Amino acid sequence: MGNLDRRLVLFDVDGTLLATDGSGRRAFERALRAVFGRVGPIEGYDFHGKTDPQIVYDLLAEEGGTADEIRARLPEFWPRYVAALIEELEVSRTRGGLRVLAGVRELLEGLARRPGTVLALLTGNVEAGARWKLKAVALDGIFAFGAYGSDSAVRTELPAIALQRAYARTGIRFAGREVAIVGDTPDDVACARAIGALGVAVATGRHRAGELREAGADVVLDDFRDVEWALRAICRDGIPFSERSFRPER
Ligand SMILES: [Mg+2]
Repeated sequence: MGNLDRRLVLFDVDGTLLATDGSGRRAFERALRAVFGRVGPIEGYDFHGKTDPQIVYDLLAEEGGTADEIRARLPEFWPRYVAALIEELEVSRTRGGLRVLAGVRELLEGLARRPGTVLALLTGNVEAGARWKLKAVALDGIFAFGAYGSDSAVRTELPAIALQRAYARTGIRFAGREVAIVGDTPDDVACARAIGALGVAVATGRHRAGELREAGADVVLDDFRDVEWALRAICRDGIPFSERSFRPER
């Protein structure tokens, strides 16, 4: 079971920590058009839970792009994407659409104060994309390290990378329920299940609590407004889980 006083808490970014009002989608559209000359079925495409490279492959493959062809141009694509993202984050800010989700700042402060707790990222964003999104809402400088879409297109490969980086940074081999993975999609829950981590799902993205529960989340929260409850859910395995999920008594 390991030492549950120590925790590695891995946060997803979009829909979990912040909302960018479509900045990422618009940046993808611009960069795809500039580099590949086409955007694929981007209108109906669900970005949630996907890694950034997976988004590119999914969108272009539908129009007959081969993986090799796409891969060859990714070194040109990512700088374009990041440049467009920086601009689109500013557009969202001007519109008032850029925001940290309710309770997130307080939750992160609470976690950062706990001895033995390491905060890091597990996100499908490429590293530079994650960094700019967090910077845009002043959440930069909080996370010690991360595993990113730039490390693997396959999201369920990211937890192992996060554990390696945690060991490199801290000398601690976090394992099992010492690790909590916090996210807003069934894909985040799948990452937790892949390494036997505590899967904490929050229904602030596109997915409803019921779906997250069905995906096998250990804990499902409507949001992080009840910060104390969210802290308990993430840090303590000792909560009586009479059901697979629970709601705070208010
Ligand atoms: Mg997300």
